[in-house]
Amino acid sequence: TIEFVRATQLQGDEEPAAPPSPTQAQQQECIQAVRRSLPVFPFREELLAAIASHQVLIIEGETGSGKTTQIPQYLFEEGYTKKGLKIACTQPRRVAAMSVAARVAREMGVKLGNEVGYSIRFEDCTSERTVLRYMTDGMLLREFLSEPDLASYSVVMVDEAHERTLHTDILFGLIKDVARFRPELKVLVASATLDTARFSTFFDDAPVFRIPGRRFPVDIFYTKAPEADYLEACVVSVLQIHVTQPPGDVLVFLTGQEEIEAACEMLQDRCRRLGSKIRELLVLPIYANLPSDMQARIFQPTPPGARKVVVATNIAETSLTIEGIIYVLDPGFCKQKSYNPRTGMESLTVTPCSKASANQRAGRAGRVAAGKCFRLYTAWAYQHELEETTVPEIQRTSLGNVVLLLKSLGIHDLMHFDFLDPPPYETLLLALEQLYALGALNHLGELTTSGRKMAELPVDPMLSKMILASEKYSCSEEILTVAAMLSVNNSIFYRPKDKVVHADNARVNFFLPGGDHLVLLNVYTQWAESGYSSQWCYENFVQFRSMRRARDVREQLEGLLERVEVGLSSCQGDYIRVRKAVTAGYFYHTARLTRSGYRTVKQQQTVFIHPNSSLFEEQPRWLLYHELVLTTKEFMRQVLEIESSWLLEVAPHYYKAKELEDPHAKKMPKKTGKTREELG
Ligand code: ADP
Ligand code: MG
Repeated sequence: TIEFVRATQLQGDEEPAAPPSPTQAQQQECIQAVRRSLPVFPFREELLAAIASHQVLIIEGETGSGKTTQIPQYLFEEGYTKKGLKIACTQPRRVAAMSVAARVAREMGVKLGNEVGYSIRFEDCTSERTVLRYMTDGMLLREFLSEPDLASYSVVMVDEAHERTLHTDILFGLIKDVARFRPELKVLVASATLDTARFSTFFDDAPVFRIPGRRFPVDIFYTKAPEADYLEACVVSVLQIHVTQPPGDVLVFLTGQEEIEAACEMLQDRCRRLGSKIRELLVLPIYANLPSDMQARIFQPTPPGARKVVVATNIAETSLTIEGIIYVLDPGFCKQKSYNPRTGMESLTVTPCSKASANQRAGRAGRVAAGKCFRLYTAWAYQHELEETTVPEIQRTSLGNVVLLLKSLGIHDLMHFDFLDPPPYETLLLALEQLYALGALNHLGELTTSGRKMAELPVDPMLSKMILASEKYSCSEEILTVAAMLSVNNSIFYRPKDKVVHADNARVNFFLPGGDHLVLLNVYTQWAESGYSSQWCYENFVQFRSMRRARDVREQLEGLLERVEVGLSSCQGDYIRVRKAVTAGYFYHTARLTRSGYRTVKQQQTVFIHPNSSLFEEQPRWLLYHELVLTTKEFMRQVLEIESSWLLEVAPHYYKAKELEDPHAKKMPKKTGKTREELG
């Protein structure tokens, strides 16, 4: 058991009352009643009046008050979509966009994709009839490419603004500008109760509309001592809550799919072993790549007598509200991108979440009744180790993508772009340099023809470049597959705990000389030959839904090839061509083997091949990697063996022959009699 100490209480606004029964609340016929019961409802008229009289309105409200699902509907009812205009509502997360759109379609009694739809990268569930468009912030950003004045929209609602994702931050600057020359466009910035004054100031002191929250008190507990293994501690604590606490569902915050799946498996396993000694515990995961039918399950009411435990990523922090949660379990971590502009290295790391985040999480326990939040860290750690707030993404990510997009929108002077918080100067500079090296910008920083094409593809500049380069190496068929497989990354192979040996053998069977990109290609090709069969996936320990998604992505990318003037062609088994095309995009991500292990070529950083890589044992001299992931070490994930001469072939402006000389082959200078140092 884990010992918790009760420390503080998150103040509630209301006296504890009997929770409304979630079963009732979620029955179809009660939907309108539920809508009327939401905190935003009493403010409907007042809110609409405020929107009518101000162009920009900041809306602040507790999570679950109805901002996302209700406000667009109010606007629809009010006639904002007449004259064929649309309402956009952006979400930082794909899952949220899908799930919320599905909910709203149900509330309006329409089929998802008709009047209400969603649009996320590689998946468009909208039609001609769609007037309420839920979309990721990244998708709205791309809309600017085809419609710079957003003329087909009457209202743009930038939702979950407090998340401060890179795309949301860029949207702020662009929308502020559009609003100036489109006075009839309504702009709503919706946020949880954080930071709203900042938004108001940014939008020329736009008024803030506050929806008073409804929140019950939440008791906060901390562990007495730090927990070494938070995953194990989570599982133990959930069971502890289940056995000792009164009814109420549990929400657990973990950092990503792998962790969530592991935790769910452990929980189910232990419940099975405890059998009838405990009441029924429904274990439900929620993360970005979860198929939508599985996602929908978290919203289903818990059967009487049972308890539901939802194991979620940050998505459940503010984007999704699950009724019936009374207990929150918070290990205090999240997965965060970080970026080092000096080395140009981006990595995804599990880091302690911020205090603001921890408090949002705790708040999830107090929505329907007084709740409890168990933090798997000490009160001391909360006080001393957690940052106040999360640093906005724009300050800890690479900007290649966004800079390319802004350049395509004709925004030349990025240093003076209207940023809510500016990115570090070095990061901007490095993005420009990288785009120049990729041939997307010329030496004046202007977009080239190739840069324009790269911006057309909804992927990272390096991946775009790889796709464009497949034209030269006549292997676009293969490169499309590689690109698609890379974008469903890390969830291709299935490795159940009880069949680890079989699963690993199955994976090794796909290995091809050359490296992981070719392995991905191999998996996809064999799957395609099986007729895209799910049975084949099952037999080969491959995740069917990841493959299905790869197929979707591939189809979409194939559809865009014509636009970027790349013809369909196959390398006919000449994989060197595929490898060269990949190198043409990823020559930035290269490493060489030195006496002391792998070092990145330009920055001389120590890196390691990920143990899952097909090249883990091969240790080739030169390689490129798709991404770096920092766990215990700086690991390169998806690794491809290359030859150093290719670097000169694909990026002569970036590499000099001298720096690609092999240190082992290099002889000491002869005859001069001078030492190396003297030679400089
Ligand atoms: P906010 O955006 O202010 O956080 P939402 O509009 O997302 O609030 O949610 C309002 C309410 O709608 C939630 O409290 C929940 O009761 C309900 N709700 C939202 N999504 C779903 C769903 N998929 N299934 C059932 N109920 C939902
Ligand atoms: Mg919301």
